[in-house]
Formats: sequence, structure tokens, C-alpha cells
Amino acid sequence: MKRTLPPIGKLSTAAATPRPRPAFPARLDTAPAPPVHKPGALAALRPVTAAPAPGTRAAGHTAPVGVGMDSVAVRTAMVRKLQGQGIVHAGVLAAMQAVERHRFVDTALANQAYEDTSLPIGLGQTISKPSVVARMLELLCQGREEKLGRVLDIGTGCGYQAAVLSHLAREVYSMERLRGLHDKARDNLRAFRVANLHLLFGDGMLGYPQGAPYAGIVAAAGGNDVPQAWIDQLAVGGRLVAPAVTADGQQHLVVIDKTAQGCVRSVLEPVLFVPLKSGIA
Ligand code: SAH
Repeated sequence: MKRTLPPIGKLSTAAATPRPRPAFPARLDTAPAPPVHKPGALAALRPVTAAPAPGTRAAGHTAPVGVGMDSVAVRTAMVRKLQGQGIVHAGVLAAMQAVERHRFVDTALANQAYEDTSLPIGLGQTISKPSVVARMLELLCQGREEKLGRVLDIGTGCGYQAAVLSHLAREVYSMERLRGLHDKARDNLRAFRVANLHLLFGDGMLGYPQGAPYAGIVAAAGGNDVPQAWIDQLAVGGRLVAPAVTADGQQHLVVIDKTAQGCVRSVLEPVLFVPLKSGIA
């Protein structure tokens, strides 16, 4: 497996202990079981309700304001910009093209959905900028053409990044500590066929041992350090991408690769994510 990040330092870590695997599809929290289907490799997230024209809302949704009749075109422009910013992973670009970001923000903000900006999603939280989502997921998938196995996504928020991830991994577990946002993500995703995405309400700092070991772990909230539970739940050969405060007191993207010899930690660019908090609310 090709890894191009320079090793910054080594952490020793306990070997991943085998854990019981959950039944699939997993029954998580109160979310209704999603309709069973076999997701196509890069099929667009389409509403379950029959065949709306591309970019239009399915029955039960109101029309997006300002997105225009063809959100495919604005997503194509967004993806071109991502390529201009250096994103090269074909799977990530295709997933960003496929997922309709305007469906994950309030109607009043839908006209900004394809700008490279974070947007409020309620309860003081934000949906990450498209460029940040693409960067994180490209790091997670770096050097791999094929889909990842099981992936843990910390900080579901509105569910957008989890939806993008569902195109890149065979199973996605996405955790949110705020009940209001967990419910919002469930509502946002209900109309879509995403059989491989499991929403969990709980404290993501503890990870989700029932799904471990994970091929990838990605966090959209940053703490003073990367919780040991995440490292423990990462598979050997797996990669973790998370914001964390580093020695300079600033939040940076941190990548941890777990190898048979231990963990290799790389500190990348400075970032600004919402805080990782413990407990549920
Ligand atoms: N990926 C999200 C981004 C949401 S912002 C999206 O696409 O919308 C980050 C989220 O992390 C917030 O919703 C916040 O509540 C959540 N969060 C912070 N600490 C957490 C924790 N310990 N466990 C789970 N979620 C957490």
C-alpha cells in the first residue's frame, strides 16, 4: 500500500483486539432500517421516491432556493474547483459529484450549498466546506483505488460527509453526540437509499467498538488530542484522519497510520473545526 505522508513521530499502541462484529444491516439507535438495496459503486444518492429529474426534489421536499433546476451543473463546477485545489482521487471526486449537498442544509441556505464555505446546521455546528470534506476523504482513501471496508465517521452533523463516505466505504458508522443533529441527519437521509450508512447517537470520543476494527476513522470535530479509543479501534493497515491541537497550540489535521509495528503520526496543515466534546446532549 502506498503511503506518501512523511512520518512525524511514532506512537506505540496496543494491537487491535478482535471484537464481535455486528450483524448487518446493523440495527442502530432508533433509525428505521433503510431499504435494502445493493448500492452501485458510484451511483448517485437518489431519493427512494420515483425518479425525479436530476437536481429536483423528491416528493415531500420543497424546491431548493437558488440552486437552479440542474444542481448537477453546479456540482460539476464544484468538483472542477476541487480538482483545481489539488484533489485527484477519482472516487472522492465522483462521490462529491454524486451527493446533493443542497439537500443537507436549510432551504434558505441552499443557494450557497455549492460554494466552498461552511454553513450553519443548527445547535452551533457547521457543515464543513466541500474542499475540507474532499481533503479529509482523499487522505482517508489515499493510495487505495478500491472501496474501504468499515469506516467510522465522528460528528455526523447534518449527514453530508457521511453520505459522501457511503460511496467510498462498504459500511459507514456515523456518530453524533447531539440528539437534535442526529435526528436531523436521519431526516435528511431518510429519502435516500443508503443501506450501508448507519447513524449512531452517542459520544464519538468512545468510538464504536462493536464495529471495530475500522479500515478508516475520520472526525469532523477536534480535541486536544486524538482519543485512544479511536486508535485502539483502528485496524492494522487502517488510517485515521482528524483535527487535533498539536504542539504549537493550533488545530491541525492529524493522520495516524496503524502498522504492525505501531502507529505513524503525521501532522498536516492548520485547520479550524468545531470542538470535539464528550458526553451526549
Ligand atoms: N460531517 C458533518 C460536520 C458536522 S460539524 C457534516 O457533514 O455536517 C461536527 C459535528 O461533530 C457536530 O455536529 C458536533 O456535534 C459533533 N461532535 C462533537 N463532538 C462529538 C463527539 N464526542 N461525538 C460525536 N459527535 C461529536
